[in-house]
Amino acid sequence: MKNKTIPAFLILVGLVLITQFGIAEPKISDLPSKTVLYNCNVIDCTGSKPMRNMTVVITGNMITAIKPGSYQKPKGQEDVKVIDLGGAYLLPGFWNVHMHLSALLPDPNHILDNELLPSAVIRSGLNAMDGLTKGFTSIRTVGELAYLDVAWRDVFDQGYFMGPRIFASGNEVSITGGHRGDIPIGFDGAAEIRKAVRMQIAQGVDWIKIMEVEMLPDEVEAAVQVAHHMGLRVCSHSKEPTTYRSVQAGVDCIEHGYGLKDKTIKLMAEKGTFYVPTIICNLSDQYIRERDKRLAALGYCEDEKAAKGRTLVAYADERTQEHALHQRKALLKAFKAGVKVCIGSDSTPVGELGILEIEQFVLSGISEMDALIAATRNCADLCRVLDKLGTVEEGKLADLVVVSENPLENISNIRKVKMVFKDGISVDLDQPQGTASYWDYFFTRGREKGYAADSDDAAGFKKK
Ligand SMILES: [Zn+2]
Repeated sequence: MKNKTIPAFLILVGLVLITQFGIAEPKISDLPSKTVLYNCNVIDCTGSKPMRNMTVVITGNMITAIKPGSYQKPKGQEDVKVIDLGGAYLLPGFWNVHMHLSALLPDPNHILDNELLPSAVIRSGLNAMDGLTKGFTSIRTVGELAYLDVAWRDVFDQGYFMGPRIFASGNEVSITGGHRGDIPIGFDGAAEIRKAVRMQIAQGVDWIKIMEVEMLPDEVEAAVQVAHHMGLRVCSHSKEPTTYRSVQAGVDCIEHGYGLKDKTIKLMAEKGTFYVPTIICNLSDQYIRERDKRLAALGYCEDEKAAKGRTLVAYADERTQEHALHQRKALLKAFKAGVKVCIGSDSTPVGELGILEIEQFVLSGISEMDALIAATRNCADLCRVLDKLGTVEEGKLADLVVVSENPLENISNIRKVKMVFKDGISVDLDQPQGTASYWDYFFTRGREKGYAADSDDAAGFKKK
């Protein structure tokens, strides 16, 4: 018995040593995959001009070469995937950095009332995965139920499902009766706020989101102090006059920034505070008309459900024209003052509303190139991963979007998504998650009064 056991054991040790110390020959499947994309125009979002007729090489999950000219596959490299992009435009993956995966904001018809938590969790994951197929390779969540964003982040990171990268904030940190009274029991006083922030960190969040409006100065300072001490950034739902104080206290990113004052913009520029204006959740009828005209001109009306869904969100929160104009002016002023602005839609779904927000930046007076930088580079900078993501550069992770027409000529061409890569893997855009669209869910949950347009015409998506 003993004599037989020892050699078997030694063989096993030998095998382990061979595997560990690389004596064994690598198998073909162990080598990083290589994809070559040629005949494309690269908009790298570093601020440089677009580069015509380029070849981009992806090795494993990384961009390893960006060269002008075409590509000839060398002999003996049959395993290299070579794709002719036919003159399409290659960009870094888009970001949506103000997202509540589980929320439909606002929800005046109470569509989501009494939704079961597991249903919300599943819907949130689908929302994120749907966003990836629209080109959104990264999102930052800023307030979720039950840390579902942390859970989906890990699920996507581990590769169980193909979804965008998530930078998660978990629950918002707020005081009792905070955010217009929506939070019945919160955390009061600096000590409790410190505890609240530490509780978030213990759950594995990447960001701390606070609701500064009703908080006292020492409570805001306490949140920033603990978060920064633990190496996390802080963002805040913001409204003047408290925005100025939050920027002073060291909040890293201002969300909404309602009523943003000139002196606050100046301080933000000085301190490098980011701004996510969430224009799309402050729509006006004037904006909706402009948007619909653009979309109709492009013939974007192929999906009636989506068109009506977008209108459901659009008309539901229609605020005054002055309010919407003020937000758009604040965005432009902040941008011109040198504040780094980012794309965040607030409402759902990630992809469709994210696209609307990018278009809204252009409608507000920002150039197409700067709107694209706001959707990519600035967001990676915001999440402190600019060394790995946010631009198309050699050595960065291959999170990419390919659109068939030039978004610098018409920003709405970002809708013409041809391919999406996340971490070097081509996302299957044809693979349906199920038989129903993301919007179907909202329409099946009852719509008594209904803000959604009853006709394509009213939605502005009439077929040409
Ligand atoms: Zn929000």
